[in-house]
Amino acid sequence: MEIVPVIVVIRENKTNRIRFHLDNLFLGEDKTPNIFIWEDGNYACDCNRGLFFDRAGNDEEREHECSQNTGDDYSVNILLQNGECIYSEFGMQILIEPSTYEETDKSTD
Ligand SMILES: [Zn+2]
Repeated sequence: MEIVPVIVVIRENKTNRIRFHLDNLFLGEDKTPNIFIWEDGNYACDCNRGLFFDRAGNDEEREHECSQNTGDDYSVNILLQNGECIYSEFGMQILIEPSTYEETDKSTD
């Protein structure tokens, strides 16, 4: 099966932090990328999205509650390598406003 590399932009909704996860999607017979796994499959679930988010930031992996395949805590946009968005769950304007990105919620005391 043919695959296409994609960039999955993952937003942690409660902090608005954004991270980039690299993935490959299968191409369907019509040559369009199959986004099922992110839309309704295992990667639609917060338990997986949360892990990808942690890993993308080289954070220690946290426990993420299963959300029955809905992305309540994490939303994703999926881009081809040329930047074309092929799946969107949140507005992309946040990507061109890097001032909203904060890396500093590790210091809890
Ligand atoms: Zn789950």
